[in-house]
Amino acid sequence: MLTPKDLKRYDRQIKLLGEAGQEKLKRAKVFIAGAGGLGSPISIYLTAAGIGTITLVDNDTVELSNLNRQVLHWEKDAGRYKVESAEEKLSQINSDIEIEAQNATLTEDNISDLVNDADLIIDAMDNYPVRYLLNRMALSKNIPFIHGAVNGFHGQATTILPGRSACLRCIFRKAPPPSKFPVIGVTPGIIGLVQANEAIKYLTEVGELLDGKLLLWDGLASRTEILEVQRDPKCPECKDYGHGHDASTK
Ligand SMILES: [Zn+2]
Repeated sequence: MLTPKDLKRYDRQIKLLGEAGQEKLKRAKVFIAGAGGLGSPISIYLTAAGIGTITLVDNDTVELSNLNRQVLHWEKDAGRYKVESAEEKLSQINSDIEIEAQNATLTEDNISDLVNDADLIIDAMDNYPVRYLLNRMALSKNIPFIHGAVNGFHGQATTILPGRSACLRCIFRKAPPPSKFPVIGVTPGIIGLVQANEAIKYLTEVGELLDGKLLLWDGLASRTEILEVQRDPKCPECKDYGHGHDASTK
């Protein structure tokens, strides 16, 4: 149930989502992998929107070179665990929601327990091996997965509905080589907010999602492009999922 405070606090979005929509946000559990450049805007806006439970996982500490883009972390946080810094800020933005910040490295062994029974998995990582791990977990638990990635002035986002739309491995079969890529701070701001917007739409069942679509952002040209992406019947990750939906009609 929404409280009188909720009704006041979320008034502007209740006008769009209805009280039922706001209640869906309040009941939702969202898992965010990463408390850095993408994780900052995603977690700030989902906290402000009143998502009931947010689990945030990161294993890093704050460095001065993070501060051009990781807006959850401030000068005073240098050297602290990112999840500690994040939890402090997020709980001050919204003290009515549950923030579960975990200092952990996501691995094959712990990811299932950490994701637990989340309604949504959001990729705010900076590397593909962990993204593929999240993709696999989303498929095996049948939890929608919102991917985002950035490099320089460029970014991308897509939403994966397990067994129904192209998974991360259908779209990106091979990981790009790991590198310390450059980033202008606004790029993860823009892509992270596309991801947060996808999360709100999915949870409240409004609008159209980016499933089967890859959004590409070119910040130098201020241009957005949306490509159609198909499931790959030979995808090593998702070929065994969801044939009841797709393949039966073909
Ligand atoms: Zn796939």
